[in-house]
Amino acid sequence: MYWVKYFCEIRLRSYQAVRRGEQEIPKYFNFASDVLDKWSEIEKAGKRPSNSAFWWISGKGEEVKWSFEELGFLSRKVANVLTKVCGLQKGDRIIVVLPRIPEWWLVNVACMRAGIVLIPGTSQLSAKDILYRLQASKAMCIITDDTVAPAVDSVASECQFLKTKLIVSKGSREGWLNFSELNQSADHSCVKTRIEDSVNIFFTSGTTGSPKMTEHSHGSLGFRPLLSERYWLDLTPSDVIWSTADTGWILTSLTSVFDPWVFGSCIFVHQLPQIESATILNTLCRFPIDTLVGVPTLYRMLVQNDLSSYKFMNLKHCMSGGEPLNPEVMEKWKSQTGLDIHEVYGQTETGIICSVFKGMKIKPGSMGKAAPLFDVQVVDKNANILPPGQQGEIAVRSKPIRPLGLFSEYIDNPKKTAESERGDFYVTGDRGTMDEDGYFWFIGRDDDIIISSGYRIGPFEVESALMEHPAVAEAAVVSSPDPLRGEVVKAFVVLSATFSSSDREHLACELQEHVKKTTAPYKYPRKVEFVQQMPKTITGKIKRHELRNKEWGRM
Ligand code: ATP
Ligand code: MG
Repeated sequence: MYWVKYFCEIRLRSYQAVRRGEQEIPKYFNFASDVLDKWSEIEKAGKRPSNSAFWWISGKGEEVKWSFEELGFLSRKVANVLTKVCGLQKGDRIIVVLPRIPEWWLVNVACMRAGIVLIPGTSQLSAKDILYRLQASKAMCIITDDTVAPAVDSVASECQFLKTKLIVSKGSREGWLNFSELNQSADHSCVKTRIEDSVNIFFTSGTTGSPKMTEHSHGSLGFRPLLSERYWLDLTPSDVIWSTADTGWILTSLTSVFDPWVFGSCIFVHQLPQIESATILNTLCRFPIDTLVGVPTLYRMLVQNDLSSYKFMNLKHCMSGGEPLNPEVMEKWKSQTGLDIHEVYGQTETGIICSVFKGMKIKPGSMGKAAPLFDVQVVDKNANILPPGQQGEIAVRSKPIRPLGLFSEYIDNPKKTAESERGDFYVTGDRGTMDEDGYFWFIGRDDDIIISSGYRIGPFEVESALMEHPAVAEAAVVSSPDPLRGEVVKAFVVLSATFSSSDREHLACELQEHVKKTTAPYKYPRKVEFVQQMPKTITGKIKRHELRNKEWGRM
């Protein structure tokens, strides 16, 4: 395992030296040539376990397995498709809207090789969403499949920068080049990219408004994991990691591209046209997956099942991020599977900035401690650091040195970029506290905080209290107008199946009493409304602002 050791040593040495300020971050870095091709050499020398680098299943019997060498070979061919056939050059932007199919990973690596900036999008985008993204990004090329192509065609005439459309399809479509028919040679030399060159642009989830274009560099996504001494994923080359996130979000790029491949691990992908409990649970039983990454909605869905009939083959490590995870869900998962859920916290802008690392004491409801390279603090309105226990805004020190991992800017939006800076910090817009042990606790998005009779109430705590009641499958808490108190706490509740025909009035009182008992009584929801489902973003996040706007008659 000489190479593996060498690789890890280099990683640690440069981390320590860079942290000590003795060594500069390299000027040039490209993940494809500096990491993936290195693993390919290690593999060729027989120094890596026989594990695949990439393992994909369709769920209908199809399977693809690539070694690092195969990934290199195929991605070079695609790099030639992008440059020679589509005429794309270093720095050009491409939008890729594909489901979880192997081509998505090939295009990712091919873009790195050619220096093309990849903008991922989810397959659930509407024609209007696609128009917004194509116009805002000025992308010159789009790659998608049969499902999304008609939506692209309906808006393409309004996108003056769009030159080439590539379709991943068994058939053909007028005006589109067929991705699989474009056979190019595998002779391609990886371009030299500066560490600050853009590698990906992500649109944020749009939970609070229009999605923002967030730029990340080769250093931010590719080099950062090499530097992180104690790493939030903590994988080895023989590990298999499965992230169920959609291809449109940074979470997939972090947990299903850059970070696992830094460790030479195997990235497992299930096409998952629909996220169904049975499919997820059966996959965990049939495949040697060590690490599972999912959003809280996934775990909330899984714990509604009787898990005792499932025996997971290898699962040891579970992670959740993107939204707060209620301690109740964590407990249910642990009692049925014996496994903890490790929470991670971050944003499109920051990647993962807090995490419950492997082996660390878990404090249910906390998002863990600051991730390596990030100085995370809780600050007040004037960017003063607040002492442990005091509520404020979660922020990342960005001056004098902007840490690797933090986005470069909101593209074409200097005003928003400037608004995200306060003193020496980048402010997240999320409220929280840090305790004496350095653990962070999420209270809510700044806009979601409810101020009732002078009290500041974070929705997450009330939602978690509600979730402890067996009748509640999902809960969202927002402010609602009140003539006396200004605003009061209102809970929207989706009932679990067994309680769906219960008496609503009685249940509402019971839930109110329950919250009064489990948290400070002033936090109990004075209003309760039962709903069939919550309004959610495509990422599966509850859109509290939509519920709140409705309450306040703003829509
Ligand atoms: P937009 O910025 O467009 O309104 P968004 O903030 O939802 O959308 P993302 O960057 O996908 O876009 O999400 C980041 C946000 O998700 C964080 O700011 C935080 O509010 C929430 N979040 C992520 N992880 C966690 C977590 N572990 N606990 C609580 N909240 C989380
Ligand atoms: Mg945001």
